[in-house]
Amino acid sequence: MAHRDYYNVLGVGRRSSQDEIKRAYRALAMRFHPDRNSEPEAEQRFKDVTEAYTVLSDPEQRSRYDRLGPLYTPDGRPPKPEDVNEVIGSFFGGMFRRKTQDRGTDLRYTVSLTLEEVATGLDRPIVVPRRVHCHHCGGDGAEPEGGRAICEPCGGTGRSSGARLFRTSCYHCDGQGFTVVKPCNTCDGDGRISIEDSLVVKVPKGVATGQKLKLSGKGDAPTGSGEAGDLFVIVNVAEHTLFRRRGDDLLVELPLTFSEVATGADVVVPTIEGQTTIRIAPGTPSGKIFRLAGRGMPKVGRSGRGDLHLQVMLEVPTELSNSEREALAGWARALSASRHPLRAAFDEVVRIRSSVEAS
Ligand SMILES: [Zn+2]
Ligand SMILES: [Zn+2]
Repeated sequence: MAHRDYYNVLGVGRRSSQDEIKRAYRALAMRFHPDRNSEPEAEQRFKDVTEAYTVLSDPEQRSRYDRLGPLYTPDGRPPKPEDVNEVIGSFFGGMFRRKTQDRGTDLRYTVSLTLEEVATGLDRPIVVPRRVHCHHCGGDGAEPEGGRAICEPCGGTGRSSGARLFRTSCYHCDGQGFTVVKPCNTCDGDGRISIEDSLVVKVPKGVATGQKLKLSGKGDAPTGSGEAGDLFVIVNVAEHTLFRRRGDDLLVELPLTFSEVATGADVVVPTIEGQTTIRIAPGTPSGKIFRLAGRGMPKVGRSGRGDLHLQVMLEVPTELSNSEREALAGWARALSASRHPLRAAFDEVVRIRSSVEAS
């Protein structure tokens, strides 16, 4: 392409500044970049403008070209591929890939739930204090009327100039292209305001204490134009007076009276949704566990549920009145030793051992 007019290719005058050349190239490269333009001639045009720019953006090569005109070839050869690649990289690193902006801070919020709420799942409204981009200034911290001034060192491009052209963001304006001369009234120039945000947490059924629910983009907005962080809602399930939880299973201690376990009874017991009745067979021992399959907690993200375990605990009466004491004595006399085989065997062993020691 050396025979062609590089200035013409970029559509700029021979006395154009580096900034003008850069802007012209940026616009043309955006238009003809093969990722963005599928017309057949686009790729050649892209190569041409990039070659022209590679020469004209280098002051040394540009002055050689100005002297030699159409006879110019850089060292008798076209621009080296690495030069071209560097130009493309310096532009398209910033233009086509999204600039990695700082993200806002992630926030945490603890939501307290009852076991019953967790068993069914629910939508829980919460109010979270967080920072969002200021609606008055749009987040840049400058008063909309006359709050901005074009950054002079970079001419508003946001890119540093100099020997290694526009390789980095302009240090003066941090890549914004402008400086704030009058801070926004609403946010005092921070670009963010604090709000009490009303949100709804979708609590899936079966979650447990310590689990995190993520609300994407509901954390703090960053200063500058990056995305907001996320909000992590930490689940805290309150202790229950009746139910203890072991994974998906629920455990309940079931206090029964002696006459209930001895003679049998139908007893109303709690479940997480309500209640049910179980039959206690005559002679049920203390410590026995009744297992009610599928009556525990729902499994998170799956079908099915854990079990409900009811453990019998024989409640021994205390602080007896005189008449109660007499009734129990009568009851003890009425029952023969054969009704308490374990106790009878125990007594027998003790008796044998003491007679061996005595002899
Ligand atoms: Zn503002
Ligand atoms: Zn600047």
